Amino acid sequence: MLRMYNYHRTPFEIILQNIFNILEKYEAKFTFSIVASIAKQDLIENIMKSGHEIASHSLYHVKHKGLPFETQLHYISKSLELLSNYGANVKGFRAPYNSYDANTFRCLNKLNFTYDAGVRREESYRKILQPFHLIVDDGESRFVSFPVFNISDESLDELPQQIVLEKFLEHINNLPENGLSVLQLHPIRIGQKKYLSFLDKLVSHITTIGYEVPTLTEVVNKKCTMPAICLTGDIDCLSFNDYLKRI
Ligand SMILES: [Zn+2]
Repeated sequence: MLRMYNYHRTPFEIILQNIFNILEKYEAKFTFSIVASIAKQDLIENIMKSGHEIASHSLYHVKHKGLPFETQLHYISKSLELLSNYGANVKGFRAPYNSYDANTFRCLNKLNFTYDAGVRREESYRKILQPFHLIVDDGESRFVSFPVFNISDESLDELPQQIVLEKFLEHINNLPENGLSVLQLHPIRIGQKKYLSFLDKLVSHITTIGYEVPTLTEVVNKKCTMPAICLTGDIDCLSFNDYLKRI
């Protein structure tokens, strides 16, 4: 909690601007999954005018696994409604706490999502380096799921930056020629002044070796070449107050 308090001492607009400044240098794109109940018009406009993508992180930051289908459908469809009222064209979803069950996937099918960017850190998913379809009720999902690297920026709270950077670079360097990986980088952390050089070195490396950094929708629409690295991150709280309400 103390860590979150410290992170939120930097206004969220500054955090985002710090991230945008680095991405712009490398023409890199970012996909932000946003909890719709905390979203604000200026946040959405700011992200869209900088050319980045907005996905749904549901209506509230609650675990979806085990919730009734109707409840999940309400949360996810309401998030779409709110985000689109602010002008976002939402195609993708990521569940809070990466907490999914079969009903979550049924909702994504029903609501015509293009993709799910849930974090699949389990061993069985680690070898998947292409977007893939899940099986939902004995059929292929209409949406695609993205493979997400199992190490995230959360490691920065525990390990020296250089060590975390090396883990990311090793993963990136080992991607096959047509491979794709989605990195999970929380804006509240990587937009902090002390982590900006980490973000800069990471994106610089990706682009220096010739990989594209597209949005997830650009990957689905085949508007990029492979290998590609997608940068994604959740926006769950805009202030420490939002964080307190959540716990
Ligand atoms: Zn989250």
